[in-house]
Amino acid sequence: MLPSWMESLCLPCLDSANLSSTLPLDLSLWHRRFGHSNHDYVKQLHANDMVTGMTLSNKSKPDPICEPCLAGKMHANPFPTSYSRASQPLELVHIDLKGPIQVTSFGGYKYWAMFVDDHTRFKCGIGLKKKIRHLLCILAVQSLC
Ligand SMILES: [Zn+2]
Repeated sequence: MLPSWMESLCLPCLDSANLSSTLPLDLSLWHRRFGHSNHDYVKQLHANDMVTGMTLSNKSKPDPICEPCLAGKMHANPFPTSYSRASQPLELVHIDLKGPIQVTSFGGYKYWAMFVDDHTRFKCGIGLKKKIRHLLCILAVQSLC
């Protein structure tokens, strides 16, 4: 039981799903609200009355072009193949930093950095407890040059 002063602040829960909307309550809006779910799933949610307060004021067909969905389905083109190589060791070092990984390693590492020397193809992987430490690794490699 809520105190009386708090009950006066409570709003009916039936309208809670669209309480603050000033936009037309159409399928496109619900598609965005449900994290860009498939339009058919959103229609099923409404048709089966699975969401409290979900109303559709406009039942027109949603715009098939949703920019965030299109951006999410795009893929990046691969880097162009390079046929040039560094002429001496440490002239060019490729560095890849990965992390944070979901499960911390036994040593407490959350990140790892991979260094590949372009000339010799020597590879070195280093576990890192903090992301900032990769800068120290880069400085250490630069000091070898
Ligand atoms: Zn979308």
